[in-house]
Amino acid sequence: MPPDRLGFGFNTLDRAANHRTDKPWLEALRQSGKARLIRLHGDRVRIADGHVEFGQPESEGAIFLGLDSAGHAWFAEEGNFDGGTDLRSIAVGGLVPPDELGLLAQARSLLVWHARRSFCSNCGARTEIQDGGYRRHCPSCKMDHFPRTDPVVIMVAIRDGACLLGRQKSWAPGMYSALAGFMEPGETIEDAARREILEEAGIRIGAVHYIASQPWPFPSSLMIGLIGEAETSDIKLDQLELEDARWFPANEVRAMLAGTHPSLRCPPPMAIANHLLESALARCAAIR
Ligand SMILES: [Zn+2]
Repeated sequence: MPPDRLGFGFNTLDRAANHRTDKPWLEALRQSGKARLIRLHGDRVRIADGHVEFGQPESEGAIFLGLDSAGHAWFAEEGNFDGGTDLRSIAVGGLVPPDELGLLAQARSLLVWHARRSFCSNCGARTEIQDGGYRRHCPSCKMDHFPRTDPVVIMVAIRDGACLLGRQKSWAPGMYSALAGFMEPGETIEDAARREILEEAGIRIGAVHYIASQPWPFPSSLMIGLIGEAETSDIKLDQLELEDARWFPANEVRAMLAGTHPSLRCPPPMAIANHLLESALARCAAIR
């Protein structure tokens, strides 16, 4: 799969992790004419002429994102403005180039983390931003805190040429997608996926195949996309989690992907579930 097809998954910035611990280096970059600042208000950003709007970073508190291939240094900070467009709409509509969407995902996840972690979770003292925004240090108990990423397993189970998909009550009518859930501590990716499918649909999964991953900045998930080979087929629905789950034959999935199904649809190509369904169809065809 080309890396720029998944929304938020294509980030070409050099994060300069070896340099960003160097405060004078970072300060010189920020004050250079090649610095660019994007401002987010929650998950909204202003776009103009098909690009993310940017200005000059004026405050030392801006988070460093990285260097682009033209040598521009990108920074981000939380703003307070009216209007703008939310990240989901930008991704679904393809309103900015794929690499700018990747940069927005990085900025959004980092900014949310800073907004929620101003105080030390160990002793309660106010923490300080370090390393361009990739560490918060507690001056009181000396603990370092690092930005979080929350892994989520998302899986299409296959059996006898059919794909297991489910839907939540809150989704748009006719929308079905891959089942997903947060990983828990002490779990492998494979076991987390098997647990989720068993809990939500009562299906036992054997072999698990990794397909791709996708940053999902709402606010800081990483979707880990998998195909699972189901060993059972009788669905027992967890009605707290799902409104419905069903086995969809390949021809029906094909129609959902193509947008030609009379009543059902699946997530758009910017979402990893769409690519998992394509991989699942290819795998089903290869098994036959
Ligand atoms: Zn502390």
